[in-house]
Amino acid sequence: MTAIDEVFAPGGPIEKSLAGFEARPGQLQMAQLIERGFLEGMHTIVEAGTGVGKSLAYLVPALRSGKKIVISTGTIALQEQLYNKDIPLVTQALDIPARVTLLKGRNHYLCKQKLENMRADRLLAPSRKMQQMWEWGARTQTGDRAELPFLPAYDEWEQLDADADDCVGEYCEHFRECFFFKKRDEAKFADIVIVNHALFFLDLAMGGGLLPPYDYVILDEAHQCERWATAALTATLSRGTIGRMMRKLHRSYIVPGHFDAEFERGMRGFESALASVPGDRYPLHANESAWPALETMRDSLYKLENWLYASWHDALKRKPQNDAEAERRRDLAMRAILAHQATIERAQSPSDTAIAWVERSDADSSYQLNSAPYDVSEYLRAMLFERTQSVVLTSATIADTGSREGAFEFLKRSLGVAEAQELIAPSPFDYPSQARLYVAPPELNPKMPHFAKLAAPLVEECLDRSRGRAFVLFTSHARLREVYALLRERIPFPVRLQGELPRMHLLEWFRTTPNAVLFATATFWEGIDVVGEQLSCVIIDRLPFPSPGDPLVQARIESLEARGLSGFDNYMIPSAIVRLKQGFGRLVRSKNDRGMVALLDGRAASSRYGEQILRALPPATRITHLDELAGFFA
Ligand code: SF4
Repeated sequence: MTAIDEVFAPGGPIEKSLAGFEARPGQLQMAQLIERGFLEGMHTIVEAGTGVGKSLAYLVPALRSGKKIVISTGTIALQEQLYNKDIPLVTQALDIPARVTLLKGRNHYLCKQKLENMRADRLLAPSRKMQQMWEWGARTQTGDRAELPFLPAYDEWEQLDADADDCVGEYCEHFRECFFFKKRDEAKFADIVIVNHALFFLDLAMGGGLLPPYDYVILDEAHQCERWATAALTATLSRGTIGRMMRKLHRSYIVPGHFDAEFERGMRGFESALASVPGDRYPLHANESAWPALETMRDSLYKLENWLYASWHDALKRKPQNDAEAERRRDLAMRAILAHQATIERAQSPSDTAIAWVERSDADSSYQLNSAPYDVSEYLRAMLFERTQSVVLTSATIADTGSREGAFEFLKRSLGVAEAQELIAPSPFDYPSQARLYVAPPELNPKMPHFAKLAAPLVEECLDRSRGRAFVLFTSHARLREVYALLRERIPFPVRLQGELPRMHLLEWFRTTPNAVLFATATFWEGIDVVGEQLSCVIIDRLPFPSPGDPLVQARIESLEARGLSGFDNYMIPSAIVRLKQGFGRLVRSKNDRGMVALLDGRAASSRYGEQILRALPPATRITHLDELAGFFA
C-alpha cells in the first residue's frame, strides 16, 4: 500500500481528485498519527483548527484500515458534508470501495404501523401538516422525516415516529419493510457508519443495540462529548415526559380517564412547588416543598402500574397477533412507567456521583426535574475507551493551553481518557496578519453596575471600524437588552436582536444582509457557519466562564476541590478557553478572511487567569486601542 504521505503529496491521489487542494503539514501529521493509532491500537486526540482539513485527515486512514468504523459528529451539517462530499471524494481518490450509511436516531424515521393505525382511527387528518405527512408517508422510500419540506411539530411527529417504546419489533406486520430496521440492517453491513453524538452516546448508555459492533470510533466536534454523554444519562420528569407516557399508553390501551386527570393535578402541584424557588436552574435539594409533590407523582405512577398489571390484556385497543405480542406491548408500556418511578427514586436518594436539579424551560416557562451523573469520566473510560481498540477525538477547539505540554488535560479528565497520542495540528492560517484581538482596558469590569453604559460606546466604535458585519454576544439576556437599548438608534447598519426571528431565519438574514449586526447571547457562538467577510467582527461582553450557579458546574467544581484541585483552574478556565476559541473559528475560515474579536472584559488584560486564557487563543495580533485597526478592515 502507498505510504500515507504519498496520498497527500503534490501530484498524489487527493490532489488529483480535489481541485484547488494544497498540501498542508498539519493535515498530513494528523493523518499519520491516526493511522498509527489504528495500527497499534491507541487512542488519538487531535486539535485541528479551521483550515487544517481534518475530515480528510481522518477519512484517509479510516478507509485504508479496512475496519468497521463509526464516525460521530455534533452537527447535521458535518454529517451531510461527510456523507455527500468528503467520503465520496476519498473513496474515489484512493479507489477503495466502501459501503457508507448515515444512520439517524429511531425518532427520525416514520413508523408504518403508527401511520396505518392513525389512518384507520380517523377519516380526516387533524391538521393540514398531518395531512401532508400522511401523503408523504404513502410515497416515501426512506421514511426519513428530513424529506418533509417543513419541520413537523413535536407532538404531531411523535404520533408517527418509529420510537422504540411504541414498537413491537418482529411482531409488527411491517417489520420486514420497516424504514428504521432496514436502515439498521444497512448499517450492519456498512464499512463506515455516520451518526450524531446523541445517537452514539445513547447507544453507549443502553449498552449497545442501536449501532452495529465497530472496531474504531472517530468522534469529531469532540468538545461536545461531555455534554452529549451527560445528556444520554440524564433522566427527566416533566409535563412533557408524563404527557408522552400517557399518549403512548392511550395508543395501545383503553386507559380510564381518571388517570389523565390525576396526572394533570399532580403535575400542576409539582410545577408550582418547583416554581416556589427562584432561578432557572437550581439543585433539587434547595427546594423542600418539592418532596411531597414528588411523592404524589410517585403514588400515581404506582396506581397506573397496578392497573396495567391487572387489566393489560382486556384493555388492549387492538387485537394482538398472539400473546407474545400482547406481552411485548405491556412491557413497553411498563418500561415508560418504571422509568419515571426510577427518575423520582434517583432524585430522592442523592449519590456521590449524580445530582438532581430543576430546570425552567426558556420556551414555555415549564419546569422539569433532571437527574444525571455530573462526572461521566469513569463511565466513558469503562464503556468506551477500555472497550474500543482505537478512539479518535478531534475538534477545532479541544486544547486548553497555548503550549503542547498537557494541552488536553481538561478533555482527558472530563472524558476519562487514560492514555492517548496527542497532536495540535499546525494551522495554515497567518493569524497575526489575519486576526486582531482587542481587549478592553483593565478598568472595564463586567461586574460593575454601570458596565452597559461604559461598554456601549466601545461596541459602537468597533462596529464603526468593522462597518457592521458583526455578532455582538452577551452572557446574559438582561445585559444584551441594556446595551441594545443604548445603541439601537445609533447604529447606522441593519441590526437585529436574537428572538426577533427563528434562529435559522436570523442567520439567513445575517448572511444575506450587507453590513448586518446581530445582538445575541453567547449560544450563537457555536454551531454557526458564516463564511467570508459577512462576519468580520465578534464582540463579546465578558470572558465566557460557565455559570457558577449551574448545578452541574457546581457539582463538578466541588468534586475537583474535594480531590484537592482548584475548580477555577481546572474547570472554569479551560471551559472559557474552549469557548473563546470557537469564536476565532467562526471568524477566520480561509486564508483570505480577516476579522477581529473584541473582548469587553478588562479582567482579560489585568488578571493572571486572563493572561492564561489569552495565551491559549490563536496567535492574533493583540491591540489595546481601536485606532490600531487603521487600514485593517480596508
Ligand atoms: S417495526 Fe416498529 S417501528 Fe417499524 S413499522 Fe413496525 S412498529 Fe413501527
